[in-house]
Amino acid sequence: MDCIFCKISKKEIKSEIIFEDDLTICFKDLNPVAPIHFLIIPKIHIASTSEINEKNSDVLARIFGNISKIALKFCHNGYRVVSNTGVNAGQSVMHMHFHILAGRELDWPPG
Ligand code: 5GP
Ligand code: ZN
Repeated sequence: MDCIFCKISKKEIKSEIIFEDDLTICFKDLNPVAPIHFLIIPKIHIASTSEINEKNSDVLARIFGNISKIALKFCHNGYRVVSNTGVNAGQSVMHMHFHILAGRELDWPPG
């Protein structure tokens, strides 16, 4: 499968890695929209949050556990976790990912 984020997780495409374990990898977004803009993804290919089920939800628990650790280190004044799901929501890479945004005031509601 021709998936950019699968290639990043296999190190076939270079990225600035922030954190990695057996199930997940977190790296800097190529086009940051905030001073801190990381993406955390499962190493296995899951297309989006709409494909989460009881068989693969272990990876989701791990992702959120890791987000807490990453935020403790990098996000000292609050942060936002976003997962765009589907084209209307702005998902452009069809491998589930969670944006971690911090380092500035973030508007609400999002556009
Ligand atoms: P989405 O639009 O699907 O919610 O988010 C995809 C994100 O992936 C975008 O913020 C985009 O900048 C980022 N991105 C796309 N291709 C690459 C890449 O090759 N490397 C990195 N580090 N980020 C990427
Ligand atoms: Zn993938």
